[in-house]
Amino acid sequence: MTKQILAAALALLIVFGGGCKRKTPAGEPARPGAYVPPSGPPPAEIWKEFSGAKALAHAKAQCDLGPRPSGSAELEKARALIVAELTRNGWNVERQTFTDTTPRGPVTFVNLVARYGESKKTQQWVVCSHYDTKIFDTIRFVGASDGASSTGALMELARVLSLDPALAQRVELVFFDGEEAVVQYRETNGVLADGLYGSRHYAKDLAATGRAKQLRGGVLWDMIGNSRLNITLSPDSPAQLMQEIFAAADALQLRGIFSLSDRTILDDHSPLNEAGIPTIDLIGFDYPYWHTADDTFDKLSPQSLQNVGAVTLRWLKNTAGQPAKKYAGQN
Ligand SMILES: [Zn+2]
Repeated sequence: MTKQILAAALALLIVFGGGCKRKTPAGEPARPGAYVPPSGPPPAEIWKEFSGAKALAHAKAQCDLGPRPSGSAELEKARALIVAELTRNGWNVERQTFTDTTPRGPVTFVNLVARYGESKKTQQWVVCSHYDTKIFDTIRFVGASDGASSTGALMELARVLSLDPALAQRVELVFFDGEEAVVQYRETNGVLADGLYGSRHYAKDLAATGRAKQLRGGVLWDMIGNSRLNITLSPDSPAQLMQEIFAAADALQLRGIFSLSDRTILDDHSPLNEAGIPTIDLIGFDYPYWHTADDTFDKLSPQSLQNVGAVTLRWLKNTAGQPAKKYAGQN
């Protein structure tokens, strides 16, 4: 009897013991630093997870690199920081590299296009920013609000969205290169000849690959770090999108940070709108240090970054969960 039990136990050990020792991919301990998707339910109020302090720390790391004009070694370092942070949070980052002619000669630009997961077909919304800084020969321009603020916030948005994988898969995060004009924004025969290089290329690529039809709308962040942030909405803001952003801001009692500008603002949202992706530009254009040597880190406020991050997340959570409906201007 005892022998029989022993034999049975031995057989069980052989059958199951061997199995237990076999390491399945799911059972493998994570490599240090490797991304592990969240296992619990997503936060019900995900907009509360956005940390202005974390966004500010990313913005500081960008500023600490110094001026970061397109094609510079410093901008490559900025890219490395962005890619590392996004990868750490489960995003796949595509480097969209292209060369364009500029008034200073040919420049190679790199957009960073980030998607959560492998598929390129689940994204419906774009949240974007530029990460280059304007080139100046006479001043040291580090673009704290104009470049670093929105870039840092977008890096923090990647972390927060990864807490809700179903939501993250619906969003494409884009870091545009070459937003700044090398000399100044100007048109030749009705076509923009300087500036918005990255967003023009991205929009053209979306049209060429057919992905423009997949994307329902977008939010652009630019110059959102000012401590007295006044988001000046351009008259070309898509009306329905603006109402939805206002509703999200109202719910957070942040409607007061928005005002309507009477000046049309040319920015990275313009090529997206032309490509049939209704996109709103959340820009604090009311900023006294714009394109001056004084656009430095000390002007940035974590609260401003947090406010813009929270409003955008609340809008995403509200809207991305609704059945698809067409916006005016959407292709
Ligand atoms: Zn600028």
